[in-house]
Amino acid sequence: MHDIGKNIVGVVLACNNYEVIDLGVLVPCEKILAAAVERKADVIGLSGLITPSLDEMVHVAKEMTRTGCTVPLLIGGATTSAAHTAVRIAPEYGPGVVHVLDASRVVNVVSSLLSPESKPAFMADVASRQGRQREDFAARRARKPLLSLSTARERRQGFDWAAVDIPRPEFLGTRAFAEVPLADIVPFIDWGPFFSAWELHGRFPDILSDEVVGAEATKLLADAKKLLARIVDERRFTAKAVVGFWPCNAVGDDVEVYSDESRSAVETVFHLLRQQQEKPQGQFNHCLADFIAPRESGRIDYIGGFAVTAGHGVEAFAASFRAATDDYSAIMSQALGDRLAEAMAEMFHKRAREACGFGRTENLSHADLIREKYRGIRPAPGYPACPDHTEKPILFRQLGAEAATGIALTESCAMAPASSVSGWYFNHPESKYFGVGKVGRDQVDDYARRKGWAVAEAERWLGPYLDYDKG
Ligand code: SAH
Repeated sequence: MHDIGKNIVGVVLACNNYEVIDLGVLVPCEKILAAAVERKADVIGLSGLITPSLDEMVHVAKEMTRTGCTVPLLIGGATTSAAHTAVRIAPEYGPGVVHVLDASRVVNVVSSLLSPESKPAFMADVASRQGRQREDFAARRARKPLLSLSTARERRQGFDWAAVDIPRPEFLGTRAFAEVPLADIVPFIDWGPFFSAWELHGRFPDILSDEVVGAEATKLLADAKKLLARIVDERRFTAKAVVGFWPCNAVGDDVEVYSDESRSAVETVFHLLRQQQEKPQGQFNHCLADFIAPRESGRIDYIGGFAVTAGHGVEAFAASFRAATDDYSAIMSQALGDRLAEAMAEMFHKRAREACGFGRTENLSHADLIREKYRGIRPAPGYPACPDHTEKPILFRQLGAEAATGIALTESCAMAPASSVSGWYFNHPESKYFGVGKVGRDQVDDYARRKGWAVAEAERWLGPYLDYDKG
């Protein structure tokens, strides 16, 4: 997904007569700090879209301290939080780190920071708030120790595997779609998240009649639909997809994918994490692998995978607007690319359920599809139920995703182009989304062993989820 919030922050600041130097995405720390010195920046802002950015922000804060920076550091973006900023980033940089919740606050924050009169009181307020957040964090951790990994495993959700309905998909292996007609995707668009991408908060469609933002939201949607019609007509974006199903079994918290149904050879292993927090009686410590038939059940199961993109063409189209100083349409193009990508994920998930049989009779309205009221889930690596982004390269290899769709993975396992979505299909009738939450040192050790990693590598990728302070 695009980090549209960052673009909006840039536009909002520029509209308020601040000069904004946008260095782009995935910019190395040295380049940020060098540009800040060279251009005499008054403030540095970092935006984080996926969890690996969080540790990178800590690194930037440390480097700012090491190189003697004095300007305030602003933190924003989808994965960031006031708590993470207070606990992990702010302690690394004395001159001040401020978490900016959304674009509507950035002008206030920047003007307070740039005014010698208001800055001291503003920073004192930020510092005391962050101090309280650190205390809360420490207290919570002390109060709620995690379960050991073995206890958490004992508290898994178990199933009577002899009785579970395991449909055999009508095809095994992968199917690629080199150009999915954009018009086929449009009916699957969920306009709900479109408004939050623009930092307008509220439920769709109620937001259209909201007292405060209703008029703006209505205009935004009308503009979006107009530009979308043009994108479809002029085939501005190229949509590509690949989906697959493979025979598999769960082995512990891993899912083994076999090269065929005789299960003679393990082709790929997907690694999943388990919840370790203490829960009330009767609740389970979930791991996605629990929704796959275990090897010892004697039954064979099937896991699916998908990678879809609407992103080819999005950046070029956005750039053409930017060149004409039309930032609004540039951002709109990115937002529409993201909407189309999510809509493709919905559309191909429907086809996948049909391919498994049970989807052919589900008969769901658009609203029910958007509410995901169907059997099965499509968890995405990097999201709460499977927060390790490095499962994406494994999934991509299994799908042949890069060759089929032109989606590449960056060093931090973000998908490029941005308007892309990937994940697994789980068909178990009781499969559902959850958050893994914090993981203990015992699970990190176990996970590192399963992934063939040194522990430090596991800690690097699971950074924000560690329940302990690493080395
Ligand atoms: N209709 C929405 C769909 C995207 S959000 C849109 O257009 O934006 C929902 C998707 O995010 C899910 O289908 C799944 O792929 C992913 N997701 C949500 N919660 C998740 C979780 N806890 N773990 C893993 N993936 C999750």
